Amino acid sequence: MTQLDEIRGYVAANTAKTEEIARKVWEYAELPFEETKSAELFKKELVAEGFEIEDNLAGIPTAFLAKWSNGSGKPVFGLLAEYDALWGLSQKASVPHKDPVAEGAPGHGCGHNLLGAGCFSAALAVRDYMKAHDMDGTVIFFGCPAEEGAGSKQFIAREGYFDDVDFCYTWHPSTYNEVGNTGSVAIMGANFIFDGIASHAGGAPHLGRSALDAAELMNIGVQYLREHMIDQARVHYAYSNSGGTAPNVVQDHTVIKYEVRAPKVSQMKELFERVVHIAHGAAEMTETKMRYEITMAFSDYIANAALAECISDCLLEAGAPKWSEADYELAREVLATYNETTQTAIRSTLAQKFDTADVDALLEKPLHGGVFPYERVKNPIYMSGSTDVGDVACATPTVMLNTATQCLGNVGHSWQNTCFSGSEIGMKGMMLAAEVMALACVRTAADPELIAKAKAELVARNGGRYVCPLPDDVEPPVGRY
Ligand SMILES: [Zn+2]
Repeated sequence: MTQLDEIRGYVAANTAKTEEIARKVWEYAELPFEETKSAELFKKELVAEGFEIEDNLAGIPTAFLAKWSNGSGKPVFGLLAEYDALWGLSQKASVPHKDPVAEGAPGHGCGHNLLGAGCFSAALAVRDYMKAHDMDGTVIFFGCPAEEGAGSKQFIAREGYFDDVDFCYTWHPSTYNEVGNTGSVAIMGANFIFDGIASHAGGAPHLGRSALDAAELMNIGVQYLREHMIDQARVHYAYSNSGGTAPNVVQDHTVIKYEVRAPKVSQMKELFERVVHIAHGAAEMTETKMRYEITMAFSDYIANAALAECISDCLLEAGAPKWSEADYELAREVLATYNETTQTAIRSTLAQKFDTADVDALLEKPLHGGVFPYERVKNPIYMSGSTDVGDVACATPTVMLNTATQCLGNVGHSWQNTCFSGSEIGMKGMMLAAEVMALACVRTAADPELIAKAKAELVARNGGRYVCPLPDDVEPPVGRY
C-alpha cells in the first residue's frame, strides 16, 4: 500500500461526517464574525475526535484552534480553516438557475463551507496516520472566521499564534486542480468620516458646510490619482453614510469606505497615504473636518516554493476528482446561465490555461479533469484579489492548494458558486483537497530538511519576522464591520 492509499483510507473513513459538516455550514451561511453555529459545530466534532480547543483567539468569539499532539509534539503544523459566507448569495444547492433558499440572504458563494470541512477531514487523517506510525508532532486546526470581511488571521498572527508553528497548509475551492504560483495583493480598508455644518439648502446655503461635497471631492481626487499609480494597484470605494436623503438640508456628516490594494504591503501603504492626502484636501476645500479609521488590512500572499513543490507532487499523485455524467450535466447547465459577455471572457481565460483548440471540447465537459503542477518562478505575478492567508504566509511557511469544486470558468462570489458549494461537485473537490493536504502534512512533518528549506525561504523574503500591516491599536471589528 502506498502512503497515498493509506491516507485515502483514513480520509474515506470520515467522508460521511465531513460532507455532513460541509452541508450544515452551507445551510448556516453565517456572515463574517457571526459564524457562531459553524464554529460551534467544528469545535464539537474536533473535541469528539480528541482535539484540544483554545477558544476566542485574538478576542474574536468565532476564532479558535484545535490541536492534537503525539510524542515530542514537534514539529508543529497547521491547517487554516474558514467558514464564513457572503452577503446576498443565497442559492439552492445543485439548482442550475437563480433560485435563492431565502431572497437576499447570505450564501456560501466562495465555498468556505467546503474549505473548513476539508481542513477538518485532513486534520483527522493526519492524526490517524501519526497514530499508526507513532510519529511525533502536533497538528493544529485553526478556525479562522471573517476572511470575506475584515479577516482574522492577521489578528491571530499578531498575537503570536504562528510563532512556534513550523508550517501551514490550506486550500481554496476553485475551478482548477492546481498549486498556483501567482500571488494575491496586500489590502488596507478605512472609513473616511467628514463632518460639516447643516443648514437650510435653500434659505441659508452660505451657512452650510457640506460633508457630502467633501466626500464627492475626495472621490474626484482619487479618480485623478488612478492615472498615477502602478498598474496592479486598485482603489475601491462605497458610501456607508451619504448624509441623508433630504436635498434641502446641507449634509453635515458622511462616511465613505475605501479599500486600497497593491502587490506588496509597502506599496499598498504608500498608496493609502496618498488617498489620505486627498481626503485632507477635500476637507480643506469644503471647510469640513476629516478623520479616518483603518478597519482592515491583509499582507500579500506568495506560496512558499519549497512547500508548494511538495504539495504539488501530492496533488499530481492523487489526480483530479472522478466526475460523473450528472456532474458534467450540472456544470454545463450552470455555465449556460452566464451572459454572452461573460461566456466570451470565460473562453479567453480558458484559452490562456489550455490549448485554444481544446476550449470547445472543454466546454462540453466543463470540469477540470487534470492537474496543473506548481512551477517555481523568480518574480510571481500578482492577481488582484486579497486574502488574510497572506499574513500567515508572512509568519510561517504556508501554501494554499486549489481543487476544482465548480465548473471551468465559473465566476467567483456568485450564486452559481453557492450552487456548487452545496453540490456533489463541491464535495468531490473538497475530499480531494483533504487527501492532498493530509499527505503533504505528513510528508513535510517527516522531512526536517524540507522544513528548514521552507523556513530559509521565508527569512529571505521578510527577515523571518511577521509585521502586522495594521496599526497596533486596530482591534478586530467584531459586530461592527
Ligand atoms: Zn474565499
